Amino acid sequence: MKSHDLVIVGAGLAGMRAALEGVRAGINVAIISKIHPLRSHSCAAQGGINAAIDPKDSWESHAFDTVKGSDYIGDEDAIQLMCREAPGVVLDMDRMGAPFSRLEDGRVAQRPFGGANFDRTCYAADRTGQVLLHTLWEQLVKANVAVYEECQVLRLVTDRGDRHVAGLVTYDIRTGELFSVRAKAVVIATGGYGRVYISSTNATSSTGDGMALALRAGAPLGDMEFVQFHPTGLLTSGILVTEGARGEGGVLINALGERFMGRYAPTKLELASRDVVSRAEQTEINEGRGVKGAVLLDLRHLGAEKILERLPQIRELSVDLEGVDPIHDPIPVRPTAHYSMGGIRTDQYGATPLPGLFAAGEAACVSVHGANRLGGNSLLDTIVFGKVTGKRASEYVVGKSFRDLPDRELQQVRQEINELKSRQQYGIRPIELHARMASAMNAYCGVFRTAEGIQTIVDQIPSLRKDYELIHLDDKSEVFNVDLLRALELRNLIDLAECIVKGALARKESRGAHSRVDFPQRDDSEWRKHTLAWWDEDQGQVSLSYEAVRTLGIPEYEPKARVY
Ligand SMILES: Cc1cc2nc3c(=O)[nH]c(=O)nc-3n(C[C@H](O)[C@H](O)[C@H](O)COP(=O)(O)OP(=O)(O)OC[C@H]3O[C@@H](n4cnc5c(N)ncnc54)[C@H](O)[C@@H]3O)c2cc1C
Repeated sequence: MKSHDLVIVGAGLAGMRAALEGVRAGINVAIISKIHPLRSHSCAAQGGINAAIDPKDSWESHAFDTVKGSDYIGDEDAIQLMCREAPGVVLDMDRMGAPFSRLEDGRVAQRPFGGANFDRTCYAADRTGQVLLHTLWEQLVKANVAVYEECQVLRLVTDRGDRHVAGLVTYDIRTGELFSVRAKAVVIATGGYGRVYISSTNATSSTGDGMALALRAGAPLGDMEFVQFHPTGLLTSGILVTEGARGEGGVLINALGERFMGRYAPTKLELASRDVVSRAEQTEINEGRGVKGAVLLDLRHLGAEKILERLPQIRELSVDLEGVDPIHDPIPVRPTAHYSMGGIRTDQYGATPLPGLFAAGEAACVSVHGANRLGGNSLLDTIVFGKVTGKRASEYVVGKSFRDLPDRELQQVRQEINELKSRQQYGIRPIELHARMASAMNAYCGVFRTAEGIQTIVDQIPSLRKDYELIHLDDKSEVFNVDLLRALELRNLIDLAECIVKGALARKESRGAHSRVDFPQRDDSEWRKHTLAWWDEDQGQVSLSYEAVRTLGIPEYEPKARVY
């Protein structure tokens, strides 16, 4: 059986950065990724990564912006850790060779981003994620790290006694073979769950697998009801137009040609935090001032030269996918599901309540983003907590021994797959069931929410699970059976949808990205706390509990009305 001291599931920025710590610690580390590492969703990140590297800026100011941005439920110790580490880890990436955009005098360039009091977003044109990912990949290739690519993890196995992590059951997409991997510790870095929604900026691979595996293994998921809608997804495809486009001076206009953000965020305008801008856009659309279900992002006044130098990818995407050249015409955009603030609940070093299980990046809820993430803080989260968690997990495995990984677990997964494949040619196709669930999520658990709307999805969950038992696969083959993979991912998405809607229905207030029309105010006395979602094996459903926010007693961090 394959065995590694530390196995990292996911090869995005968080997974790669964690693996690098394993290399530096000299332990036997391996990465498993269901797609080629360089195709991880991190590669799509455009706008940049925040760090207070300018002498006129400070990590304290960055931490203040993040606490406020989180709408006062980010954990303050973790936020301080992230902002303090930021300059060091970003300059470390610079030294490893990441080609950041630069100022005339050679310093790393920074652009303004939403919700920030300083221009602190470091960037590489509009391809920041791609350059960071390639830079880390070079380090891992140099260190000869074991990588199982195009291998999808289907089960997290824990010891039945003390629930310590024992290893994983994995499916080789290229051959259809199942195999087990033993590990003394596992870091889950499988990214977000954007595909719970039908319109999303996320890659099709962002199906929240690791969160669902951890949930089923007994770990809690934190704050799942907080889903970020990005204000500028392209109208038809949902593909992202970076916040950097507004950072460079782009403005939002409605059907009347009005620059409407003045009504919603008089000071920061288009650079208010994302929840604020998304609600403003949705209000314009709902009140009849939209343009065919969108508003318009106008970059024309920036001029061709700036657009081509700073936002080349945005221009290409707009031309190719929307048929609009931003040099000459405004781009139709709308709020689109973008980021999972929720995830596997960890402490500030990435440890979960299950011994030997760690999580980092978008899959984790550390929680530095609370109810709303600031742009540029997620790439930072992946690099900082990839490093911190990788280091912790590498220390953790020292002196530990491997647990038994019973063959029974692998046989169960094999049976499930065989059962799915052997169904007759009738029933529902995975893609249809996904569309039903994901469309409802957009309609009833999106930018604005009501008890009635959310309840319709809560009521649908049992029937979605029942219908899942009826899905059939057209493809029965072994090699690259995408039909099978989509079906397995769909089960994860249903689990996560249940966590999201149950948390959203219970939270009777509006905070950050969770905006309840029927409870429009934030309620700090009752709801300044984290939601934890657990898998209840006996009931076969998700149940909730709550946990206090970790605060530091700093007067500046006390909750206030959040205005921009
Ligand atoms: C279009 C877009 C633009 C963005 N721009 C910015 C930005 O400018 N600045 C910013 O701060 N943030 C940005 N974000 C957010 C940020 O990019 C992501 O939150 C972050 O990159 C996530 O990194 P990750 O390492 O956690 O996961 P990912 O990069 O999503 O990687 C997930 C990995 O897990 C693997 N995986 C998943 N499931 C399994 C499984 N079952 N078995 C094996 N492997 C599995 C995948 O193969 C992949 O390698 C953007 C996000 C999007 C979608």
